Amino acid sequence: MSGFDVDLFVIGAGSGGVRAARIAAGYGAKVMVAEEFRVGGTCVIRGCVPKKLYVYASRFADDFEDAAGFGWTLPGKPTFDWRTLVEAKEKEITRLSGIYNANLAKAGVEIVMSRAVVEDEHHVRLLADDRRISAKYILVATGGSPALEPDVPGLEHAISSNEVFDLAEFPKRLLVVGGGYIAVEFASVFARLGSKVTQCFRADNVLRGFDVDMRIGLADAMKHAGIDLKSGALPSKIEKIADGLRVTLTNGETVEADQVLVATGRHAHTRGLGLEQAGVDLKPNGAVKVDYASRSNLSSIYAVGDVTDRINLTPVAIREGHAFADNVFGGKDIHVDHRDVPSAVFTTPEIGTVGITEEEARATCDVVDIYRAAFRPMKATLSGRAERTIMKIVVDAKTDRVLGVHILGHEAGEMAQLLGIAVKMGAKKSDFDATMALHPSAAEELVTMRTRTARYEK
Ligand code: NDP
Repeated sequence: MSGFDVDLFVIGAGSGGVRAARIAAGYGAKVMVAEEFRVGGTCVIRGCVPKKLYVYASRFADDFEDAAGFGWTLPGKPTFDWRTLVEAKEKEITRLSGIYNANLAKAGVEIVMSRAVVEDEHHVRLLADDRRISAKYILVATGGSPALEPDVPGLEHAISSNEVFDLAEFPKRLLVVGGGYIAVEFASVFARLGSKVTQCFRADNVLRGFDVDMRIGLADAMKHAGIDLKSGALPSKIEKIADGLRVTLTNGETVEADQVLVATGRHAHTRGLGLEQAGVDLKPNGAVKVDYASRSNLSSIYAVGDVTDRINLTPVAIREGHAFADNVFGGKDIHVDHRDVPSAVFTTPEIGTVGITEEEARATCDVVDIYRAAFRPMKATLSGRAERTIMKIVVDAKTDRVLGVHILGHEAGEMAQLLGIAVKMGAKKSDFDATMALHPSAAEELVTMRTRTARYEK
């Protein structure tokens, strides 16, 4: 080591920071990680992991209802206890956070529970004990934080996804603001757990940027689940009333709710980190500007994950963190490929997607073929549930290459993960057709869609 206290100082013990710290330590680097909240970051503590647990909890509602169609009689009306779920969730994320801590310690990484501020290219100050640490490299992995919009009177009464997991009381009436991933997922969860959910958003439909069939299909399913979707409407005022909150919307309507969950995007968490003063270039939205190797304009400062606002997903942050450590401490030259990243929206039914949408394909290819199937899933036949599965394959007609696959239905996320391999390998529609179906399954539709639904030429 060359005159520095540590080889690597990581700010933020979330998915990206923890991975980078462990891999760097594995190459023999002396590593220190600072975390101001809880080890594990947003994904483990108040994001993907608890969210998925709550999604599982919410889906029992449909299962209890469906069971009757398969001959079951339940002894009484099933009831749900919010506190039990919150406590069980807390136990699990505490266990996971402990594993993160243990793995860091096992790798020889020093963890400091403190806010850290960058002072210059090679120095960080720990605010908990006012220590100044010198580091050969600094990795910013501070993630993001909820952006509450629009800034209307009474916004202080609203909550973000940070608070929603641990509400002291179950919200019998919930207003969700926003139409993105977080908004639709929580609307879907709380509606099934028993809340009367209203969701308002500024666009004409939820999930802008997703394939049009997924958006329409999901909105239909959400309405069917009892969610009152209000498009083109946002709060203009939030007031406290005797039994909750009264929200006036821009369309003139009022909605009364126990909680207002605002999910209108997330900001890169760079405020107060000292980056600008240290000379690190930021994007206009505050995210750290980095090159393909996650390096900022300063050669000793890198950034990975949501704080760089590339693709804000945990596996991407992990891959970026791993590549950073491999390149800087392992002498490798790994480029993270941000194309064809599969993702899921854990509504019920869920969306799984990989590759580009029909709209994107039509804007970039001369001839686009669409294959589409919509059907009632087998489970819904006996239960009588009016549920539709939608599958769509987007093909470049000139090369026969599958550009995107979009699924709304059970286990769509699981399917998207595997389809991601095929799409990444450059699979053609003829490869899908040559694959034998697995029967009876929903996924078999993906290899039996022989007839084109539409062709679009430029
Ligand atoms: P998204 O970017 O998905 O959605 C933001 C929503 O807020 C959109 O409906 C957007 O409207 C609206 N919005 C943005 N700015 C304003 C404004 N000024 N006034 C009113 N409405 C506004 O953000 P989320 O907060 O839902 O999620 C953040 C990120 O977290 C996601 O992008 C995703 O990367 C990640 N995530 C991933 C999940 C998964 O993989 N399953 C789950 C949860 C989060 P409009 O559409 O009109 O722009």
